[in-house]
Amino acid sequence: MTRANAKVLFQRLAEHTPEPQTELYYKDPFTLVVAVALSAQATDEGVNKATKKLFAVADTPQAMVALGEKKLGDYIKTIGLWRNKAKNVIGLSKMLLADYDGAVPQTRDALERLPGVGRKTANVVMNVAFGAETIAVDTHIFRVSNRTGLAPGKNPLEVEAGLEKITPPEFKRHAHHWLILHGRYICKARTPDCDACTIVDLCLYKDKVFNSEAKKPAKPKRKMANTPKLKSARPKRKTKRKAPA
Ligand code: SF4
Repeated sequence: MTRANAKVLFQRLAEHTPEPQTELYYKDPFTLVVAVALSAQATDEGVNKATKKLFAVADTPQAMVALGEKKLGDYIKTIGLWRNKAKNVIGLSKMLLADYDGAVPQTRDALERLPGVGRKTANVVMNVAFGAETIAVDTHIFRVSNRTGLAPGKNPLEVEAGLEKITPPEFKRHAHHWLILHGRYICKARTPDCDACTIVDLCLYKDKVFNSEAKKPAKPKRKMANTPKLKSARPKRKTKRKAPA
């Protein structure tokens, strides 16, 4: 995609959602790190259900360590990979207390040292909690970037590098959220809603969707013309004739 088209793409997404927000529930940088770490291979909705109760009892590294891995597990059992995630949340809480006085560090290197925090989580935390112009590539952003041709790549790192290059500076702060929301609600994995898409004219993928729809056989109409009616299997009742008076 050309730079000029990339600019139009972000202008359209920005017009649609001027102030995009993360859909994860969090209170501060610590609860954000925990929420993002829990959200790997899980829906935001599922994570929010668990964290609303969890953060009511443990929303600091101290409280999380005091809660302990077993009890933490009880709060997050509905989330996939919860055993490993519970271990990581306790581990990162301990490291924050030991190395950072309980505060969440702001650099990528320091964030990625925390148990369970990879590049994507670090990017989200830097962007949402500290206002950095990072673009975390999740499954939605990966799909939208490849389909549209905005930043094609074989893996998240390639897509991230492409997005860093092509995203105009004025849109970098919120690019991550605009692309996630677009992927989650419009450019869905199985059935992209190209008819409702505000960037359809810029997208390289739309022709595939429209062409495949055009090739689909038309659904048969309910009442087919010239189809003889089936005779009822039930025998007709004989009507008795009245005897003449
Ligand atoms: S036109 Fe279709 S495939 Fe392209 S971004 Fe929009 S929804 Fe996705």
